[in-house]
Amino acid sequence: MAKVEGSSPSAPTIPIDCWCKAERINIYPQFREEEIVPQLSIKDQVKKLVELQKIDGAIYELKKSLEEKPRVLEGLQRQFEEKKARLKELEGRLKGIQLKRKEAEVELAGKEGDIKKSNADLSKIKTNKEYTAKIHEIESLKADQSIVEEKILVFFEDADKVNAEIAKEKQFVVEEEKKFQAAQKQFDEEMQIAQDRIKVLEAQRKQYLPDIDPNVLNRYTKLLAHKEGLAIVPVQGSACGGCFMNLTTQIINHIKMHESLEECEKCSRILYIKDQL
Ligand SMILES: [Zn+2]
Repeated sequence: MAKVEGSSPSAPTIPIDCWCKAERINIYPQFREEEIVPQLSIKDQVKKLVELQKIDGAIYELKKSLEEKPRVLEGLQRQFEEKKARLKELEGRLKGIQLKRKEAEVELAGKEGDIKKSNADLSKIKTNKEYTAKIHEIESLKADQSIVEEKILVFFEDADKVNAEIAKEKQFVVEEEKKFQAAQKQFDEEMQIAQDRIKVLEAQRKQYLPDIDPNVLNRYTKLLAHKEGLAIVPVQGSACGGCFMNLTTQIINHIKMHESLEECEKCSRILYIKDQL
């Protein structure tokens, strides 16, 4: 027999199978007539629970979507931040190339100065040996000059490539920002709609509560919280509509009798048969 758990002192534990007015008054004489929940047959209570489940299922899905949406938005924000970080990294790389190019330009100017000086020295040289040595020196300086010029060209090419990437990345950042802002706006609107809808559904569900036996309602509410928002399920073929485990003929027969609330042995959800209600 199911028992009420966590009830207030004014609503003592009452065996579910004894939920009839006469017995309740007999067991709990302190109950006044007007406090007694109107008696509904098991079948009628199941009908109420099925209606309640439709509303609670919708509330559950809405609440789940409210939990998931921020994660989607966080993902978009992360993408946006990644694009920004990539742009920053490219700008840093460009600065590095420009710095190295400037250093190479200074080096080149030095080599040009050395060549100029060596050329000027040529006119002062008196021996052939010294002249040949100076010519070699100038040739070596010119070779170095070519290497530095080559380096500067490569730096220019590298800077062009990075500049092109920066332009592309800037475009991505703008697009990601727009995407993120649009998603944020949509998110805010959807959150509002979902919250409003939940309020309406919660008001709707209240009208079913007074007719349902508190023990039954307590059992249903616990299942709802622990079974992914699904407390009462139809039998599908001969299986539980919640966990799809095959049900025994005995349970199915008991469900049809509507004398007690039957539950799935595996998932504990309350069971009913659609065309028997
Ligand atoms: Zn089940």
